[in-house]
Amino acid sequence: MEPHGRNLRSAKIGRRLFTLASVAVALSGCGPANRSEGTGSTAASTVAAPVTDAPAKPPTATLPAALRPLPDPQAAGSSLPPETRRPPRPAPSRLPAAPTRGRIVADFTGKAPGTWGLHVPGTAANLTGGGRTIALTFDCCGGPGGNGVDQELIDTLQRTGTRATFFLNFRWIQANPGVAKSLAENPLFEIGNHGTKHIPLSVCGRSAYGIQGTASAAEVYDEVMVNQAALHRLTGKPARYFRPGTAYLDEVSAAIVRELGLIPVSFSINGDGGATYPAPVVFGEVAAAKPGDIIIAHANQPGGGTAAGVAQALTALQAAGLRPGRLNLK
Ligand SMILES: [Zn+2]
Repeated sequence: MEPHGRNLRSAKIGRRLFTLASVAVALSGCGPANRSEGTGSTAASTVAAPVTDAPAKPPTATLPAALRPLPDPQAAGSSLPPETRRPPRPAPSRLPAAPTRGRIVADFTGKAPGTWGLHVPGTAANLTGGGRTIALTFDCCGGPGGNGVDQELIDTLQRTGTRATFFLNFRWIQANPGVAKSLAENPLFEIGNHGTKHIPLSVCGRSAYGIQGTASAAEVYDEVMVNQAALHRLTGKPARYFRPGTAYLDEVSAAIVRELGLIPVSFSINGDGGATYPAPVVFGEVAAAKPGDIIIAHANQPGGGTAAGVAQALTALQAAGLRPGRLNLK
């Protein structure tokens, strides 16, 4: 789940509180875990607490071999025969190989985490370029209570020819392989990486909404790249965009994500408050979009107000001349 609201009185209030929460970031990335998780105000607990999903157990031991963290050739290759050490020839369509886990650990261990929050340097929260394009992004968070499929929402997007980006978590893919494949094959949709265990991305164990984050550069690597391998198998190409579970991360983690070839993506409009807003509030939030906004909502909580609210908002967006498009971030 991403930021959501409790006791929300109106879309206007929610939007104001969200703005407070999203603008503020902590300047000390590794403070006590029970501090305000980067918001510096009560806005986070009001607007943005997790709903149901909790981090899963560390996945490495239980994953199929193909989905475990990529091996580090520098560490493992010395005792292997030469033909085994030779890297596989990349397929023509593949991008340059991402740095190894060992390289990330060597390059980023000991670096001060800097800022912590929803919008840290290196993270994109608005589309680049001009025009009247906005981006609809839907997270599929996975885990207990988070493995649902909002088919009504997906059908609405399909029926209206609306482009969208789905950020898929590893656990959600495991629970919904058929839907994941269908989304990946739909030309309207782009697939982003929503983490392996769905936890905040920190190099020192910061937490957000009570969810313990990663605690080292190595754990950041695993949180990104275990799911990246799954997404590569799903879509046939590397995902370009990453959004951590809870959307919280620190500055060093953002740099690691970029080093791995992905762009950390935040948001400028909290569309459904972690799938807790009723439809009229979702409508108000999404329909208020301005050119360049990135809207976050969820596609894993059927029965909430997201599908109906987004459906209504699409009509309003069209009337305003705003066109949902792909992420075009740098
Ligand atoms: Zn999520």
